[in-house]
Amino acid sequence: MAQEFDRSEERHPVPMPPPLDFPEHGSPEADVLAEVEARFAKDPYPVKRNFGVSYVGPPHEIAERIRPLAAGSFFVEWARDMNPGADRFEKEAVRMLGSLLGHRDAVGFITSGGTESNLLALRLARNLGAKSEPEVVLPTTAHYSFRLGAELLGLRLREVDVDDTMRPDMQQVERLLNRNTVALVGSAPEGNFGQLDPIEELADLAQRKGLYLHVDAAFGGFALPFLRELGYPIPPFDFSLPGVSSMMTDGHKLGLLPVATGFFLIRDEAMLDAIPAEFTGIHTITATKPGDHAVAAWSVMRRLGREGYRESARRLMEVVDIVSKRIESIDGLRLLVRPLLAVVNFTSDRDDVERIYLELRRRGWGATYGHDGSQGRIRLSIHPHRDVEHAHGWVAALEESVQAVRSNA
Ligand SMILES: *Cc1c(COP(=O)(O)O)cnc(C)c1O
Repeated sequence: MAQEFDRSEERHPVPMPPPLDFPEHGSPEADVLAEVEARFAKDPYPVKRNFGVSYVGPPHEIAERIRPLAAGSFFVEWARDMNPGADRFEKEAVRMLGSLLGHRDAVGFITSGGTESNLLALRLARNLGAKSEPEVVLPTTAHYSFRLGAELLGLRLREVDVDDTMRPDMQQVERLLNRNTVALVGSAPEGNFGQLDPIEELADLAQRKGLYLHVDAAFGGFALPFLRELGYPIPPFDFSLPGVSSMMTDGHKLGLLPVATGFFLIRDEAMLDAIPAEFTGIHTITATKPGDHAVAAWSVMRRLGREGYRESARRLMEVVDIVSKRIESIDGLRLLVRPLLAVVNFTSDRDDVERIYLELRRRGWGATYGHDGSQGRIRLSIHPHRDVEHAHGWVAALEESVQAVRSNA
């Protein structure tokens, strides 16, 4: 699979800290708080200036406000009747998302994030498929969690090549199907370049062949429906396509929810019969979950509504546009693909891209650097929290960085 988060040789190794005694005595609260603050102050970039790695940022402020109300609460599937408060928030959040993603009857779970959601999808598809040597066909740009799932669940992955725009070869998809295939996977969008896989074609194929199709909409789920409402030409990618069996989306990315909030949604409740929950009491992989995540999910959706999320998506695209246009206006730099959502990739045919990245880092602005063996690229991931002001700051730092590299060349 392609690498979303390439590693630069310049990335610092982070060793395990030296052995540390469990403290005998407690410390004054002020000392503990001061040390926490001091350590975060040493991080290379403040959250708002870090355009690298992931589309994660601080949650919507109501997620903080509900915490005292939800303090100590939790939910776990085997004790739904004992935690009806948090449980109801979880299930209503799932229902609201189902309606957003094209299927009001979808059922599902709040998970710990995209990785757990993808593992749940692979497991469900494997169990429903009931093949002796199960295989899954997916574009090579799919998230690494599918590799993890394949290893844990004893699945064989059949990876499909993609072209320069990250589009998978659909003929190869068809060729890789065989009697052991239990699922197809598509991403909406994939994480390398933020491009949409051809979900309509995958759904059509899944339907014709009677195969399970899982859609990974980790950062698209909370954005693409709103971009469409704003007039962007977003093709169908969700349960509105009858071939889509399950979907996932991450609340902690563009959903403005606290970190470790994901959603796994299934078209039809009867599919869950393939999970032997009579032995475990749960259909998920993690059991006890923080009640405040369910309350935050429900509360942020209620507080913002479609209107609020549309505004968040609009601002996000404003940042994408500011950054992309300025990159294109700098002679010698070029975008690798026209951004669809939240991811911007560029390179230079004239400069050492890694040096540009290091100059940005020296100025306190984060990005991710990677290379495909011949050419370096800088990748930005945009979260609504990296607002217009920070977009202007970032591009000003980019201009300075390019100048610095060229004047020292
Ligand atoms: C982030 C991401 C995941 C994994 O999500 P985690 O919450 O980090 O586990 C899966 N797929 C895509 C496309 C992602 O962007």
